[in-house]
Amino acid sequence: MKVVVCVKQTPSTTAVFRVQNGSVRWDDPGGKPNVVNPWDEYAIEEAIRLQEKHGGDAIALTMGSEESKEALKTALAMGCTEAVLVADEAFEGSDTLGTAHVLAAAIRHQQDVQVAVFGKQAIDGDTGQTTIQVAVKLGWTPLTFVSEIKELDPDAGTITVERLLEGGKETVSSRLPVVISVVKEINEPRYPSFMGIRKANRAEIPTLTAADLDLDAGSAGKAASKVDWANVYELPPRDTSVEIIEGDTVEEKVKKLAERLLAEKVI
Ligand SMILES: Cc1cc2nc3c(=O)[nH]c(=O)nc-3n(C[C@H](O)[C@H](O)[C@H](O)COP(=O)(O)OP(=O)(O)OC[C@H]3O[C@@H](n4cnc5c(N)ncnc54)[C@H](O)[C@@H]3O)c2cc1C
Repeated sequence: MKVVVCVKQTPSTTAVFRVQNGSVRWDDPGGKPNVVNPWDEYAIEEAIRLQEKHGGDAIALTMGSEESKEALKTALAMGCTEAVLVADEAFEGSDTLGTAHVLAAAIRHQQDVQVAVFGKQAIDGDTGQTTIQVAVKLGWTPLTFVSEIKELDPDAGTITVERLLEGGKETVSSRLPVVISVVKEINEPRYPSFMGIRKANRAEIPTLTAADLDLDAGSAGKAASKVDWANVYELPPRDTSVEIIEGDTVEEKVKKLAERLLAEKVI
C-alpha cells in the first residue's frame, strides 16, 4: 500500500515573531532550528504504522525551501521509506489553496496512493485549511480529526476511522483513497532511532519542480494567491503597570489583594 504523509517545516514552538517591512520574521531565543510541525509528528507516526502493517511505502512530502529537507530527514529517521521535496520559485507566496494545488499534484505524481495523512493544522499558518483543500483538489474523501484508524483493508479498498468531535466521537467508513487529518489522541510518535538518523543523513531526497508536476506557471504562488497579506502589523504593546501588595503577613497580603480584585471588579 502507498501512503503519503504531508509534513510542514515550522518555526520551533519557542520562536519569537516580529513584523519587518510587512513580513513575518522569527528567531528562537535559544537558537533552536525550525522543526517538523508538531501536529505532523502524529501524522508521520500513523503513516509509518500503516506501512509496517500493510507493507508498501510511507512517503513524506513537503512543499518548501531546500531547508525543509531537514523536516523530511526527521520523517525518514522516524521510519518513512521515502521523502520528496516539492520546491520551485513559482510556488513562493502561495496561499493555502495554492499550497493544496501543488501538494495534490505531488500526491498524484506518486501514483496509486491510497491514503494521504496530514496533521490537524500547522502551528504557524494555523488555518487547518490545507487538508480539506487537497482532498477537494484530488476528489478524494476527506476524513478530518481522526483519533483512530479502526480498520483499513487495502484489497477491499475500505477504511473505517473514529473522528473526534467537540462533544464526543463518531465512527465513519469510506472507500479509499482518502485524505485524513489526525489528532494527538491517535498515537504516541516514536523518537528517531540512531540507525534511522544515520540512514536519513545519507538519503538522497529528490526535488520535484512545477515542470515535473506539469503545473502551469501562475496556478500557484503569489500570482495565483486569492489571499493577500495586505497589512501585516504587530499589535501595539499593552499599557500595563505592576503593583506590589504590601503587608506584614501572607494573610494580610491576601486579604488586601482580594479587596483590590473585588474593587476592580476582576472577581
Ligand atoms: C514565504 C511565505 C509566503 C506566504 N504568502 C502567503 C500569501 O501571500 N497569502 C496567504 O494566504 N498565505 C501565504 N503564506 C502562508 C501559506 O500559504 C500557508 O502557510 C500554507 O498554505 C499552509 O497553510 P497553514 O500553515 O495554515 O497549514 P494548515 O492548513 O494549518 O496545515 C494542515 C496540514 O497540512 C499540511 N501542510 C501544510 N502546509 C504544507 C506544506 N507546505 N507542505 C506539506 N504539508 C503541508 C501539514 O500536514 C499540516 O499539518 C505564505 C507562507 C510563506 C512561508
